[in-house]
This record gives sequence, structure tokens and C-alpha cells, in this order.
Amino acid sequence: MKILCEVQVVNRTTQANRTPKAVKSTLAIGYKQSASDANGNTKKELEMVLFSGQAKTGSRYKVRDNINAVHTKFVLDGKATIGFKQPAENLLIKCDPIQLKGFLQTLKLGMEGKDAINLRLNIAGATAIPQKAQPQVRMVISKRSEYPIKGFPRTLKSLTINNSQLVKLSFEICSLRNLVKLDVSGNKLTKIPSELGRLPLESLNLGSNCLGEMNDWCWMRGSKLSQSLGELDLSSNGLTHFPSPLVKFERLVFLNLNYNELIRLPFAIRRLKALRKLHVSSNKLESLPSAIEDLHIDQLDVWGNSFKAFNAEAAQQLAQQPAATVTPQPLWLQAARAVANFKLPLSSGSLPAILIELISEAPKCLCGKLCYALRPEDLLQRVVQPKFTNIKNLTYSREHQIYADVVICGPTCSATQQLKALFSLMFP
Ligand SMILES: [Zn+2]
Repeated sequence: MKILCEVQVVNRTTQANRTPKAVKSTLAIGYKQSASDANGNTKKELEMVLFSGQAKTGSRYKVRDNINAVHTKFVLDGKATIGFKQPAENLLIKCDPIQLKGFLQTLKLGMEGKDAINLRLNIAGATAIPQKAQPQVRMVISKRSEYPIKGFPRTLKSLTINNSQLVKLSFEICSLRNLVKLDVSGNKLTKIPSELGRLPLESLNLGSNCLGEMNDWCWMRGSKLSQSLGELDLSSNGLTHFPSPLVKFERLVFLNLNYNELIRLPFAIRRLKALRKLHVSSNKLESLPSAIEDLHIDQLDVWGNSFKAFNAEAAQQLAQQPAATVTPQPLWLQAARAVANFKLPLSSGSLPAILIELISEAPKCLCGKLCYALRPEDLLQRVVQPKFTNIKNLTYSREHQIYADVVICGPTCSATQQLKALFSLMFP
């Protein structure tokens, strides 16, 4: 009988550990057939053999009249000790409890001189149990020549391919089902295959590529990815627009958009409820949407942007707004308003997906009302100063004041009246 276990060998006389810690080993027990004597009788000798990295050919121990002690008190925890007289060594064994129990029972039968199926192993020719190779879970490629010709192991959980002049992600990479973390920063990607959206990645680094060239975000519509991704790096990609499907990544905690060409962030960003770290430094932001106040961000970095001054023109426009006119409302708009009015839960079981999308992405007026059918004059750029009350750590260039864009739900809105009063003081 053979078992795969971990064994530490301790010499009782010197108290020295022959192995400093438990090492992966094979322990075998069986009879050794000795050569026949003058009368033609063969003798069977019970032996135990320990195979390990240190003892590849095996350390042999006689069993009959050579066992000093067997400690089995912790066998249910998968631990036991066998002490031999010659050499004066203790084997401290860790193993699967059931296997260990079986092994000790076999040893007991052998010591009692009984025959057992488990003892029919010819110990002379016994070898170690081959240890299964550990499946490869990580791979790092840092130059083009390291790209595997034979393909990627299907077991990969983390794959990094940097600075390898990669122009596209292969279908093979997009079908590595176990992948959790993918880092392909520092390449020349202009487009990501939509298949990537089917991977349940938790971390995706696409930094320093050329994704702004084609602005193709189909892959972000994949249902798996948008439900699993927690970290996304899209820095240094020449982005001129915030990718619109990105607002659906409701698990996203960290978003890096540094070193792009973004002028504006969408109001729908308020849908990113899990977002805690937002980096948009070194872009061309002129303002922030007031929706930024709806997020619970710990770290907002907007250093190095082009924030513009207070928009007096827009403020004056507001003060001169005509009175409200009643226009017929389409059904979907009425439905969305009804859901908001009755504060119905936004669960996909009870509401159509399109309605959930509308409600969770619609810009919010200063008064708190959601605005759906926006007219251009409902958007006022750079008219309020955000308070950033929910943001714990704000990084920005102090020479620029940050003003926020707001939307107003209509001329009769209470917030509009307040704004008008405020502006009429400023522009009498
Ligand atoms: Zn309003």
C-alpha cells in the first residue's frame, strides 16, 4: 500500500530534524521477497519505504521488531507518528485522514504477521507516487518573444501581456474561462473583441493602448463582464468620450481614466454606485456633472484639467426662461415618472430592463426630480459649485475653480426659482 502524504523525519538521538519541515512524500508498506536459501525457502521481510525529494530512491525501514511507538491520537485530524528503533527516527506524518487510517491498519496487520491485500505490494520495486503537476494559474509576458507559440494554459486565472506590440486580443485569450485578472497595458490595441464581455473578469487593465481611435465599446455590453468587473484601467488611450456602456458596470470600484482627452463626464455616471476611486487627471474636463455628488467616492483625482469659469451666459439664459408650456408626454416617460413617484424598487423581475436603464441613467435635477426628455436649454453648463461632501479625498489644481453642469426639470421647478433668485442678484 502506498499513500501520498507530508512527512517530517526527526532523529531521536540527535533531536536533529533530517527534514526541516514536512515535505511531500510517498509512504509505502509491503513485503520484500528475499532470495531463496539452500533449502529453496524464501523469506518475506516486512518493510516501510519513505520516498521524498531528499530520498528519491527511498529510505527503508524494517517493520518486524523495529517499531518503537505509533502515535495515532490525532489520526482523525490526518496526523500520526511512527517511531523506529533502527535508525532511531520518528516519522511525523500528515495525510488525508481516511488514507492515513487505512495505512495504519495495514501496518497493524503486518506487525501481527497477518496477510492482507494491502500488503501484497512488492516493496523491493516500489516507487513514489508521481505528484500531479500544479495547474498553471499565472502568466506574465513582458516582451513579444515570450508570447507562447503553443497557446495559453486553460487554467490561467491571471494573464499579463505588457509592451508586446499587441494589436489585437486573440479569440483564445477571450475564451480563457478561468481568467479573473487581465492586464494588457502598454500595447497597441485599437479594438477589443466583443467575446471578452463574456468573461467574468474582476480586474482589467487596458491602459496605454489606442482604444480611443475606434471608440468601439461593444465588448462592454457583455453581460458577464459588466456584472463582475471591479477595477478598470483605460488610462492613456486617447479617449475623447466617456464610453457610454461603462455606466452599467455597477460593481466597478476603481476606474482609471487618466491621460485622455475627456471634456465631459456623463450624468449617467451616477449609476456607478460601487465606485470608490475615480481618476480623471490630465484630461480636458471643462466641468463635472452635478451627478458626481450622488456618488460615494473616496478618491477623486481631477488634477490637470481645463476647468472653465462660471458660465454667466447660461445663468442669464435661465433667468429669461419662458413660462412652462404643457406638452403631451409619451407613455414611456409617464411610466418612468410613475415608478419614481411611487418609489418602486428597480428590480429586473418586476420592471422592463429598458425602464430600469432610463431611470438609473436619467440626469437628476437640482430639486431631485429625474429629467428624461432633455431639451438643450435644460442643460446648464458650469453654473453651480459642487460641494463634494461625499468625496473624502479630492485632488485638483487649485488655480482652477471647479463648476458643475446641472439639468433643470422645467421652468416651474423649485430649484429653478432659487437659482433665478440667486442669479438676479448677480445679474440685475
Ligand atoms: Zn427640478
